[in-house]
Amino acid sequence: MVIHGIQKLTLVDFPGHPASILFSGNCNFRCPFCQNAPLVLDSEDEPVLDNDEIFSFLKKRKKMLEGVVVTGGEPTINKDLIPFLSSLKDLGYLVKLDTNGYMPEVLRKAVESGVVDYVAMDIKTSLDEYPKLCGVENIDTSRIKESIDYLMSGAVDYEFRTTVVEPLHHKENFEKIGEMTKDCLRYYLQSFVDSGNIIGKNCFSPSIEQLQNYLEILSSYIKNVSIRDRA
Ligand code: SF4
Repeated sequence: MVIHGIQKLTLVDFPGHPASILFSGNCNFRCPFCQNAPLVLDSEDEPVLDNDEIFSFLKKRKKMLEGVVVTGGEPTINKDLIPFLSSLKDLGYLVKLDTNGYMPEVLRKAVESGVVDYVAMDIKTSLDEYPKLCGVENIDTSRIKESIDYLMSGAVDYEFRTTVVEPLHHKENFEKIGEMTKDCLRYYLQSFVDSGNIIGKNCFSPSIEQLQNYLEILSSYIKNVSIRDRA
């Protein structure tokens, strides 16, 4: 699997586990607020890491690290994803998969193959407004719903998360998301922060008041919902 970047240590991306993050390229979405524009739009121009070097690093860090996060881009569009995750498991690591949920069959296969311990799925917004947030006009939102339902079936530990972006979100989105994900295991809201390298324009961070307002809405549907501080 082509890996374009590594963050050698994170203490926040894999709940409860010190981990490394591996970044794959390409994506089936074009979210205007995407922080990884070069990885999504021009991945062929991005550096490619040697898989042997990645695995050698992970072997050496086995005493310090517990997990590996595979993120993107969108990892589930890579045909080598499952064998790659399997190799990480063979090293004894816990594996977290980040996904936009648009490949429910790959998600299911990865979980059923036993190569994933934790899934973080983005919920961009309520299904009716997905095209605006994911940048794909003719998106089939039943595929998003299928991934949500699969994760909520309890097949694997998981979280849902939404990056809140002004002016793209409004409170009706969170009423609908709350109804759709009622009683899910955990839900995080995280504030958009402009990396200076985003796909679209006119994306801004929400105010604390807006975030708290959305948190309050979700709290009436979900017990375990919180704001994740990315700082
Ligand atoms: S933010 Fe959107 S475009 Fe960027 S990697 Fe995630 S799903 Fe793809």
